[in-house]
Amino acid sequence: MPDRFLTDAAMDYTAIYGRGAGCCGDEDFALYRFLCCGGVRLVCYEDDTVYLDPRDLSRQGSSSVSSQTESECPLCGVPVSVGQPYTAWATWGEAAASPWAWTIRPDAWPRPLR
Ligand SMILES: [Zn+2]
Ligand SMILES: [Zn+2]
Repeated sequence: MPDRFLTDAAMDYTAIYGRGAGCCGDEDFALYRFLCCGGVRLVCYEDDTVYLDPRDLSRQGSSSVSSQTESECPLCGVPVSVGQPYTAWATWGEAAASPWAWTIRPDAWPRPLR
């Protein structure tokens, strides 16, 4: 089975808020993989917040990239610039192998990974 990308509908907002997530008040959660270093993190793509620690959602960074200031990957520190995509939705397999699997709705997992 090809490893497909997660979608919005898979995210378990109840579980994520239940563990204390919150950034901009209009959260749109996703699991992103950072292409530079392969790290998987929970993000809010409304305001580019990156949740750094699956056990402590108060630890947050930013993945925003601005043309005005130098930006870097919040995980590995490599420089990133506007127009250079450096994040992608994680796949089901990457999510399952990460410590962020709890952010996925239990009933959303494809059968082989349940
Ligand atoms: Zn946010
Ligand atoms: Zn990185």
